[in-house]
Amino acid sequence: MRPYILLTPGPLTTSESVKATMMTDWCTWDEDYNLHIVEEIRKSLVELATKATDEYTSILLQGSGTYCVEAVIGSTIKAGDKLLILSNGAYGDRMGNIAEYHGIHYDMLAFDETEQVSVEYVDDYLAHNAEITHVAIVHCETTTGVLNPLKEIAHIVKMHGKKLIVDAMSSFGGVPLDVQELGIDFMISSANKCIQGVPGFGFIIARKSELKYCKGVSKSLSLDIYDQWETMEKGHGKWRFTSPTHVVRAFKQAMEELKEEGGVTARYKRYCENHDILVKGMRSLGFETLLPDNIQSPIITSFLYPKKDFDFKSFYAQLKEKGFVIYPGKISQADTFRIGNIGDVYPEDFKHLIEAVQSTKY
Ligand SMILES: *Cc1c(COP(=O)(O)O)cnc(C)c1O
Repeated sequence: MRPYILLTPGPLTTSESVKATMMTDWCTWDEDYNLHIVEEIRKSLVELATKATDEYTSILLQGSGTYCVEAVIGSTIKAGDKLLILSNGAYGDRMGNIAEYHGIHYDMLAFDETEQVSVEYVDDYLAHNAEITHVAIVHCETTTGVLNPLKEIAHIVKMHGKKLIVDAMSSFGGVPLDVQELGIDFMISSANKCIQGVPGFGFIIARKSELKYCKGVSKSLSLDIYDQWETMEKGHGKWRFTSPTHVVRAFKQAMEELKEEGGVTARYKRYCENHDILVKGMRSLGFETLLPDNIQSPIITSFLYPKKDFDFKSFYAQLKEKGFVIYPGKISQADTFRIGNIGDVYPEDFKHLIEAVQSTKY
């Protein structure tokens, strides 16, 4: 069934049982779908995100993760508001791109791709720029694998009384967090990352008391999170437009498998084990990681080319032949490639990967 496993951070390797659920056709008007699949997913997503389930709600939205990031930015920032974007990679920069498209008033604090967003710098900036109303940050910057200090940043943002938007696309479900404890107002993730579903929709965990201010803000119909939420809420799981039914059904299975595994804590532990075996093994073969260990997430790991004339294409092709698909690098300042630790992949797979690398010519 599997010609190779994907060691890429989404789409990623999914279980056979997740894929198998897509063999049934679902009617979007029937309660088998709305009530028993969509509404259950919405409820369990909120439970996964926080213990304070009364204060939050969830919105599912067609498209990839970026659609949800754009939907949140476009549905929350009004005329007169100003957004501060904290960026240390391509996904932070993409939020700036979205703000440009929407003509949103914003500032960007850009940090080096190999460093975390600086808590002191953000504190200082907010102290001197009272006009900022919202702050947006990426939790795990998948560009490099750096894990931003979300807890500390969230604390500062809340001390200054700003709204907080978090792109937790590649961390939610794989790294423990509680949106209410952190003070997050809008958190975004998608089906094909740590929940281990297949691609086709994303979701937003929103603080109810903030979501109500989104009514009428969006200038895009299909990306209006308030309208999407209202229809889902009143229609008990109804989507405004055709929903990716098979993908949603697969996601429900993926959520059940997350629970069976032991929840986010257990999954986080597995990802950390995957990462440890990968890094120890690669280092024993002479590879170096791009990032120091103390800012590295267990989600995806960047490795420097081992020598100047390293032929990534050939390395990639040989590993693919042996059953492993890895990922090219995405940063300009160093030649790197990336290996994802997330998905239906286990420490055994990483042991085999290291053997495969060892027997590869590069
Ligand atoms: C995957 C990802 C996204 C969304 O990317 P899509 O290609 O639109 O799915 C956004 N932010 C981060 C940090 C991601 O890892």
